[in-house]
Amino acid sequence: MTPIEDERPRLSHQRELLGASDWRARLAAERALDQARQAARDLVVEGLTHPSAAVPRQCAAFMDHHADDRCVPQLYEAVNDPVPSVRREALHALGCQQCKPAPLAVDALPVLIDHALGDPSKRVRLSAVAGIGRHPRDPRAVAPLQTVLGQETDRLVRKHAHRALRHHEPAYRSATDAAARARATEARRTDTTDTEP
Ligand SMILES: [Zn+2]
Repeated sequence: MTPIEDERPRLSHQRELLGASDWRARLAAERALDQARQAARDLVVEGLTHPSAAVPRQCAAFMDHHADDRCVPQLYEAVNDPVPSVRREALHALGCQQCKPAPLAVDALPVLIDHALGDPSKRVRLSAVAGIGRHPRDPRAVAPLQTVLGQETDRLVRKHAHRALRHHEPAYRSATDAAARARATEARRTDTTDTEP
């Protein structure tokens, strides 16, 4: 039985007390449940350094939906984990604010850029580049994304870097739109299936 399951009878009793007529009993039950929630969160945070790789990975994935600012230091440690899948989930949890009840008070762009440029795992680089693409438009992202496009060999990472650069750099978006229009015009010009004079 996990520590959380062990707590179930006590917690369900506290849940009953949320409906008690005595306001002091209701308040005590609210506090007990809130403390349990914090204990559960602490347990997940501790799981980020569990010796089995699957546990830190799932804990980091859990953080994507449940992390608050108290978890940020541990997530920063997890982005340097030797296991790529842990780094990938931790980067996503730090950089993705859309999945959380409240956005983290964190500037995740520098750590996303570091991993987009230098992580040895292409799946981690992909997660980092995708995170940069979700970040609000920021001029700090432009040069690193240009570097990724210049040096990256993985097709999918390049594709996401291209999308992210279109998001962060209006001039690149205009240039690539113009190039796409030119390609479409050229394709129509050389299309010989239309036999109308
Ligand atoms: Zn997310």
